Amino acid sequence: MVKWMMERIVLRYLLPDFYAESAISISPMWLQSLGVRVVFIDLDNTLTPTGFWDVGGDERRWIEQLRLCGMKVYIVSNEARSRRVAHIANTLNVRYIAPAWKPRTSLIRRILEADFTEPHSAAMIGDQLFTDVLMAKRLGMLTILVKPMTNLSFITTKVMRCFERPLLKWMRQINLLRHCP
Ligand SMILES: [Mg+2]
Repeated sequence: MVKWMMERIVLRYLLPDFYAESAISISPMWLQSLGVRVVFIDLDNTLTPTGFWDVGGDERRWIEQLRLCGMKVYIVSNEARSRRVAHIANTLNVRYIAPAWKPRTSLIRRILEADFTEPHSAAMIGDQLFTDVLMAKRLGMLTILVKPMTNLSFITTKVMRCFERPLLKWMRQINLLRHCP
């Protein structure tokens, strides 16, 4: 019974809709075809390696393509040093939210409301189950988990990974992780 309930909770709140090897491997045209108008992207280990101040050329081009496909892009980071997030967002010419307090939903919900965007027209792309995925699933957004860019992480992330690993293993074992087309 407890196991059944745990599984229900995991499936409802922690199972991403899709999985991708990297953010840049997600096709902007595919997102567009799903009706996505707003894309929220995690920063550390999703768009840049943890702690980096620069974004790679491929990532820049991908962000540009998202915009060309008519999508509004936000960087959503739990990073408390918002100066770095602001710097990256400015160089990419996108908006940002930092610290975003994921998995809390209030800041993102406010943005969606101000934008008159329904959660199902928004996507969250990130590398962590207990922040990115949980926040997006709570809001009912399209949720895409990506493989972390590096093994380097902040200490809190390292702790979370210990809980994440067995869950991901379980999801893989019973074929729950759907790859992005
Ligand atoms: Mg991250």
